[in-house]
Amino acid sequence: MRKTIIAGNWKLYKTIPEAIELANGLKRELFQLDAQDIEIVICPVYTALTEVFEVIQNSAIGMGAQDAYWQDEGAFTGEVSCKMLKDAGCTYVIIGHSERRQFFGETNETVNKKVKAVLAAGLTPIMCVGETLAEREANKTFAVLEDHVAGGLKGFSAEDAVKIVIAYEPVWAIGTGKTATPAQAQEAHAYIRGLLAKLYSKEVAAKMRIQYGGSVKPDNIEELMHQPDVDGALVGGASLKVDSFADIVKKAAKIRK
Ligand code: PEP
Repeated sequence: MRKTIIAGNWKLYKTIPEAIELANGLKRELFQLDAQDIEIVICPVYTALTEVFEVIQNSAIGMGAQDAYWQDEGAFTGEVSCKMLKDAGCTYVIIGHSERRQFFGETNETVNKKVKAVLAAGLTPIMCVGETLAEREANKTFAVLEDHVAGGLKGFSAEDAVKIVIAYEPVWAIGTGKTATPAQAQEAHAYIRGLLAKLYSKEVAAKMRIQYGGSVKPDNIEELMHQPDVDGALVGGASLKVDSFADIVKKAAKIRK
């Protein structure tokens, strides 16, 4: 059985006091949930990591970063390493988000190096893949998914692969209010699982978790979670408010697969 994982990507939002307030609100709202049943992750900006960790430690909520560099230390101005993120309390790192691919020159090669570094640090990578609207309209969705999945996972053993969470995020659905229909999400997730079976084996593919991301809200999480290959969600906008993120988490936790 694949354990549901709901992660909130806070992007470039929240000052330290605002992040503490949001984390406290989530802790209050979600205290009844058991970490055995569902993984809940919040991903604040770097500057708020330490303070947010103070709030969520000893709760069912885990913490992730939104990116990481692949070197542990050195003359790499502006970067933050996995070792440092672990030190701040992170157990997850989002890698290859489409905003990083689009605005910061992230490629399959850099994604691959970063995922490798995240795994080496003993953290869980959330590796994002997904097509743009132009690619979908040109019938290139599956080709893009193959490129992102195979490129990102290059050189990883099956033992490493099962530790990686994949987030399928159609770029046209991120922050736009347009969600992929449950059928579109399921089609892409099933395709990705098929790729994982080809790259590794059916057993490995059956173990790997694939989250959906793109305008997930309290009113669409249930139908998405009912899809057989959707194992959770990566949530942007709706993770910035206690009510909406807590609602998404609670609804997802009720769906037993
Ligand atoms: C995201 O940031 O990964 C995301 C899916 O954003 P949103 O939920 O706002 O579309």
